[in-house]
Amino acid sequence: MLYKYMCKSFAQIICEVIVLKRLTELRKEILRIIETSEVPLNAEEIYQKLETKPNLSSVYRGLSFLEDNGMIKSISFDSHVRFFYPVEKNHPLHFIYCKNCRKIEVFNECFADRIQAQIEKKHDCTITDHVFYFIGLCSECRHNYPGRGRET
Ligand SMILES: [Zn+2]
Ligand SMILES: [Zn+2]
Repeated sequence: MLYKYMCKSFAQIICEVIVLKRLTELRKEILRIIETSEVPLNAEEIYQKLETKPNLSSVYRGLSFLEDNGMIKSISFDSHVRFFYPVEKNHPLHFIYCKNCRKIEVFNECFADRIQAQIEKKHDCTITDHVFYFIGLCSECRHNYPGRGRET
């Protein structure tokens, strides 16, 4: 009885080690995909790019782990869909989000520095980071739907 119990525990441990190893590899692959992408990606896009296909919930768990450990950041625009991007060491990223096709573009122009000192003084705070995005229509959508860019 004791032997049987011990065997089961041992099997469970082995199982857990295998799961842990797989998860670590998955996290590494997820991180690599995010770091090599030019734009933030959502969980499904990351899933599509994975060489080994686990289930989508493993991808979500991996993303939570990476975000909790400060290796990636995420942003959501006009829906509950979160887009993940690497932690930028040089400068925070700036996005243009298309509300029609949900495409994200990245731009580097920044004017935060100009207002940062002013805001820090006014609110008596220290600003360490910023996230900036515009919402609108991308070039393609703007030309396919003339006039829509002026609405709302
Ligand atoms: Zn678009
Ligand atoms: Zn900036």
